[in-house]
Amino acid sequence: MVKLQKPEFVYMGGRLRSWDDAVLHIGCEAVTRGLSVFEGLKGYWGVDSRFRIVEMRRHYERLQRSARLLHIPFDTPFERYEAAIYDLAGALLGPDRDMWFRTSLYAIEGHWGEGTAADLVVTAYHTDKVVPEAVNIGVSTWRRSVDLALPARIKTGTNYQVARLARIEGRPRGWDDMVLLNQEGRVAEGTGSCVLMVRDQTVYTPPATEGALESITLDVVESLATSLGIRFVRRPIDRTELLIADELGMCGTLAEVTLVRSIDGFELPRRTAILQALQTSYFNAVRAVAPCPSLELFLPPSTADTRSMAVHGIARANPNTD
Ligand code: PMP
Repeated sequence: MVKLQKPEFVYMGGRLRSWDDAVLHIGCEAVTRGLSVFEGLKGYWGVDSRFRIVEMRRHYERLQRSARLLHIPFDTPFERYEAAIYDLAGALLGPDRDMWFRTSLYAIEGHWGEGTAADLVVTAYHTDKVVPEAVNIGVSTWRRSVDLALPARIKTGTNYQVARLARIEGRPRGWDDMVLLNQEGRVAEGTGSCVLMVRDQTVYTPPATEGALESITLDVVESLATSLGIRFVRRPIDRTELLIADELGMCGTLAEVTLVRSIDGFELPRRTAILQALQTSYFNAVRAVAPCPSLELFLPPSTADTRSMAVHGIARANPNTD
């Protein structure tokens, strides 16, 4: 999990601002009804010392879909979305750490669906260049909402209320993450990731229709599995299957491919060969060790270029020159 940070700059209202200046009015729907949609994107330094952002276009397209489902107008072209991310990367990126970007649309104008207008906000946080450690997880008593109430397919901030409750539930037991079941009691997903289960040499994951976000990382992992000759199947998963699985893992932009050590206090068998292989090939792909044809990586303009763009942006963001 990324530790809470207060980076120096934020992209908001079409330009870079200082963290303290990035505020929303208490009267806007983003605050009163939690009306926002967002995407988390990861950027990695490659073995060739170049920084690349993973699947930016697919994240943009999912943001568009989330916005459409919540009737939030979003007509920013991809090139402006991309430039906003590069602008902030240019201001904050250093050579020693990777970055996680959060691109959000906050409803800043409108009332009950009339006259809605949203602002594209980008925040970015530093992450360590490490492979995640194996985690202990639990199954939450909180459930994923149904498609007719709060669709898991929409990546909106309010969808994470239940994830927050689940994490609060698991914390006293020392669990790092929680699995949310759907209303039928089958596996939906983690609080911020998808579930991977290995049984009899096959990787299983629930389809999005079981109450999971339509994950971009999952598609990457599926294509890596296929190229390694590992069977990958999307089908519903019962709760008890988690307890007798050969291997368990979580995957997502921020979770990357994380192995699970125990679930509900049950230690998993110490065989992790399949998910370990997928974890290695995931990191080889995102760090451009072994390029993966089905993974699209975006190279920002050279760090020197973005840094000068950022300085320009910050100058414009100075309230005295506005
Ligand atoms: N489910 C939830 C609830 C998530 O927050 C995430 C992270 N975005 C995922 C699944 C994985 O999605 P992705 O691979 O696109 O990051």
